[in-house]
Amino acid sequence: MKIMPNRMDRGFYQFQQEFEDKAIEILRSGWYILGKELNLFEEEFAAYTGAKYCIGLASGLDALWIAFRLLNIGKNDEVIVQGNTYIASVMGITMNGATPIFVEPDDYFGIDIDKIEEKITKRTKAILVVHLYGMASRMDKIIELCKKYNLRLIEDCAQSHGAYFNDQMTGTFGDVGCFSFYPSKNLGAFGDGGAVLVNDEQLAKDFRIFRNYGSERRYYNKFVGANSRLDEIQAGLLRVKLKHIQELTKEKEKIADYYTESIHNGKIQLPRLVKGASGVWHQYVIRCEERERLIDYLDQKEIGTIIHYPIPPHLSEAYQYLGHKKGFLPITEHLAQTVLSIPIYNGMTKEEQEYVIDALNSFD
Ligand SMILES: *Cc1c(COP(=O)(O)O)cnc(C)c1O
Repeated sequence: MKIMPNRMDRGFYQFQQEFEDKAIEILRSGWYILGKELNLFEEEFAAYTGAKYCIGLASGLDALWIAFRLLNIGKNDEVIVQGNTYIASVMGITMNGATPIFVEPDDYFGIDIDKIEEKITKRTKAILVVHLYGMASRMDKIIELCKKYNLRLIEDCAQSHGAYFNDQMTGTFGDVGCFSFYPSKNLGAFGDGGAVLVNDEQLAKDFRIFRNYGSERRYYNKFVGANSRLDEIQAGLLRVKLKHIQELTKEKEKIADYYTESIHNGKIQLPRLVKGASGVWHQYVIRCEERERLIDYLDQKEIGTIIHYPIPPHLSEAYQYLGHKKGFLPITEHLAQTVLSIPIYNGMTKEEQEYVIDALNSFD
C-alpha cells in the first residue's frame, strides 16, 4: 500500500460540492478582494476562537512580521522564541530588525518554560510562543512571565487552529495570535492565506489599514503599509472548511489516539501533550535514534515521511549572521536529527492507519 505523508485532495473531496458551489458563486459575483466573504470569515473565525477581532492577511509570515511591526518591536529589541521551530517564526522577528533569542524546547516540543527567565534582558520586548505540530504550549507559565517582566506575547498558531490550553483557544492568550491558512495546515485554504486575532480595537484597526497600503480611505494613505489581503475566493473556501472544522479536528484526533494506543516499539518515542493542553495534530511526530534507517525501512514499504525540521533556524544559512555555531542548542539540534512526521490527514482510511502502525511495530 502506498501512503503519502499528506493527502490534501482527500480533504477537498470530503466536501467537494460545497467547495465547488462557493468557488463558482464568488467567480460569478464580480468582487474578488476585500468583500463580503472576507468580512464574514473574519467574524466567523473570531467567534470560533473567542477573540474579539480577526483580520485576514495574505500569509502566516505576514501575520507574524506585521504583528511585530505594529507592536513597534524592531532594531535593538530582543524576542524570545524556541529553537525548534519552522524558520518563518524567526523571520517574522528578524524582518523588522529585532534579534531572536533562542530557548531550548521541553520534552513536549514546546518552549522550556524553566529556561526562559535566564534569557530575559533589558532589551527583551516579547515572547513568541509556537504551538508546534498543533500541540498547545504551557500558557499559564508563559503568561506569568510576560506579566512579571512586562513583555508582549505573540502566538504562532500556524499549526494549532482549534487547540486549547485550559479551555482557552490558542491565539487568544496574548497581544496577537498569528495564523497561516497554507493548504497543508489544519484550516487550509486552496492557496496562500493568513490572519491575526487581537482583542485591542486600535490594534485591529492598525492591521486593517496596514494590510491595504496603509490606507483607510481609498487614495488617502496614513502610513507605508503592505499589500497583504486574504482574497475573496480563499476567504469563501475557508468559510466552507470552518463550518466543518470541529469534525475535521476530531477525525485527526482519533487517528492520533489510535497511533498512540497502538504503536509499541522500544526504538520509537511517541508525542505527548503537556497537562492542560489539547492537540489538533497538524503533525504526529515520533522520535527515533536510528531515524535514517527507519526512513529507509518505511520508504521500502511505500510509507512517506517528512522531517519537521532537519535544520534548526539558528544553523540555517539565512541566520549565519547571528553567529550561532553547532552545539549552541544541543536539545534542539538533537531533535532535528531524530524527529520524524508520520502520515496523518483528513480522509485517511483505517486500513492506511493500520498499515502504518504494523510497519512501525515491526521495525527492529
Ligand atoms: C506555516 C508556518 C508559518 C508560515 O505560514 P505561511 O502562510 O506559509 O507564511 C509560520 N510558522 C509556522 C510554525 C508554520 O508552520
